[in-house]
Amino acid sequence: MTLERDIENSTKRRHPHRHPVPTRAERGSFKKALVDFDVPREALETLDRFQIEVLAKLKTVVGRVESLFAMQESSDDKGKFYPEDASKAELNREAEINPAIDSPYPVVVRAEDGSLRTIPAHIYYGAAIKNKGIVKRLKEAAREAGKGKKRDSQFQTYLNKKADALENGDYKAAERAWLSMDHEPVVDLMFGLYDTYIDRFRHKKYAWSASVGVLNPELTAHSQWFTDKFLSWWEKDNGKEAPRVRVRIDHTRLYAGVPARMEFAAESYPCQPEWRKELGSKFIIFEPAFKDQLDHRWLHAFRDFIDPSKMQGITDAFVSTSALRLYTAHELGHSLETEEDFERFQNEKDWLKELDCELEAIVGYREIEGVSKKESEIAFALSLASGYMEFARRPRRKDYYKAFTQIPGYLIQEGILRIENGKFTWQNTEETFDALRKMRHQVKSLITNGRLRDVQVFDRNYFNQEIYNFLLTGSTYPSDLQFEAGSPIQN
Ligand SMILES: [Zn+2]
Repeated sequence: MTLERDIENSTKRRHPHRHPVPTRAERGSFKKALVDFDVPREALETLDRFQIEVLAKLKTVVGRVESLFAMQESSDDKGKFYPEDASKAELNREAEINPAIDSPYPVVVRAEDGSLRTIPAHIYYGAAIKNKGIVKRLKEAAREAGKGKKRDSQFQTYLNKKADALENGDYKAAERAWLSMDHEPVVDLMFGLYDTYIDRFRHKKYAWSASVGVLNPELTAHSQWFTDKFLSWWEKDNGKEAPRVRVRIDHTRLYAGVPARMEFAAESYPCQPEWRKELGSKFIIFEPAFKDQLDHRWLHAFRDFIDPSKMQGITDAFVSTSALRLYTAHELGHSLETEEDFERFQNEKDWLKELDCELEAIVGYREIEGVSKKESEIAFALSLASGYMEFARRPRRKDYYKAFTQIPGYLIQEGILRIENGKFTWQNTEETFDALRKMRHQVKSLITNGRLRDVQVFDRNYFNQEIYNFLLTGSTYPSDLQFEAGSPIQN
């Protein structure tokens, strides 16, 4: 009964995939949004005494960010970004007069005369930042970064700009210093207001986030190679220029705020699409978190539900490279897409985006020179396994569940994919990729020309939840089975 245990565990465990929905904590009993990891000894041994000092000071900074984050989180959907008595209608109305209400940084408060007022974040959190000695620690870390043979003046400049931003609110100057460095710093700090997940009320306000870790130089170089290849495929395929994306595989020591609350395995910074275009962006994989999620969930689903003959001679290390790359490719898709293309799809928007990015990741993977065909096939199999993991978590992450179920749903309907004795299998890999390319083409044309109704029809046709019954009972999906749109699945 390993399967049942796995299902049970899967529902409890974190999902290795992107942007989870925050768990609701009981009122007044938030768990600290702070996660500690171990940095491998070999990585620590490469640091000189000044770098060790930088790491220690920044670890203190990150630890203190947790209490800034606590000033933003609340047990209801609102977060502490808006006055408790403000309605959405009032905020929307007032935002037309005062656009700062909608901008990601300022906090909205009720003035004495009853009107809404905005306070810049560096002022609102200023006293707490000062009390915690955060600016002071950042400046100390900057001084240490300028010492010794391994001194890093660009990183030093970045830390000083970060300290300045906390006092003057010029966040962009700090981002520019971070993203324009000509190398990845050995010890790195991510710190600022990012991601709207905590503002479940209006999805506008960023919350405090921070991480500190030591570079994994080999894996970073490999991942940057893959990223550059993937982006150049994307440019050719889409006829557009892609913004620069820097990748960092980080032996994370500590993270706090949003990434800790959301149990991120990875995230892209900064969050404003216009800034990403102008300054480029950095995709950080928090290696210990990624590994944990891969080893405990993704690999299990992969081994349980994929035809074993497809993975003969495939080691876990090979699968984990492939998982890392698939994950990276999917996330790159998000940093390349534009919000405007999706607006008319309303509630269907989010799964459509996920589907688009996942198909782009799988199809693009196949085209990359220097990557074996076997590897891209394993990436495809990993994507099927992601579908199962979303099934195990439903209905919490409905959009991912939909997107990742539509891929096998489509391929089964096309007669390309089969379920035999509870495992996905396929005959001819090239034919399978042709079907995936065709599916991607259909999705792309929905995004460019489709109406909301077309997208809903697509969903009805391919969102086939019955496949999980066959996976879980270890049975075979009959080739003559007519899929009835919207049929419920047994629990
Ligand atoms: Zn995604």
